[in-house]
Amino acid sequence: MHTHYHHAPQMVTFEDCIRFHGHSCPGLASGYRAAKAAMEALGVMRPEDEDLVAICETDACGIDAIQVIAGTTAGKGNLIIHDYGKHAFTFYKRKDGKAVRITFNRGEDESTNEMNAIRAKVFSGTATNEEEARFHELMHTATVNVLHAPAEKIMKIELITMDAPRKARIFASVTCECCGEAVADAKTRRVGGKCICIPCAEGTHLAKKK
Ligand SMILES: [Zn+2]
Ligand SMILES: [Zn+2]
Repeated sequence: MHTHYHHAPQMVTFEDCIRFHGHSCPGLASGYRAAKAAMEALGVMRPEDEDLVAICETDACGIDAIQVIAGTTAGKGNLIIHDYGKHAFTFYKRKDGKAVRITFNRGEDESTNEMNAIRAKVFSGTATNEEEARFHELMHTATVNVLHAPAEKIMKIELITMDAPRKARIFASVTCECCGEAVADAKTRRVGGKCICIPCAEGTHLAKKK
């Protein structure tokens, strides 16, 4: 039995996104802009009052801002992630079936090549202190640009028609006959007459028997 406690809604800001995500970056800023633009396009004032679903085509930084701003979270089942490596975010409003898809322009400028060159060094640990500092400066500038650029300059906002995404269901829990851990019955597989969990069936269990 699930009981949901609703918190009093509060205004959420980009600062809240940074706190949740752990750092500020252009990807986080994109997610922030996408969530804000989608809410505006769908006429959503307070996401906690609406039945919004976010379908994200990336598993990168931006989805953390989506969760904070649009209130669509992994735990509530209204955050769907397809890792297609695209900065594309679709929002569906269950109340009226309206949907909007937001994509980002690549936004290349002079600093892009420099950033890419330094990024490789920073992530392989071979950057000098100066390069490291320059990288953070470029990242900061890119983040500020994404946060403040006019919407039409950085993204495409399209109202689309789509089928309602399937609702997250609550499953009864059973015990895996292989590892003994509790598992939702709809996620079990029948192998050799036993009802077992997916990791046991696929041999990918994180706590393998020694
Ligand atoms: Zn990030
Ligand atoms: Zn198992």
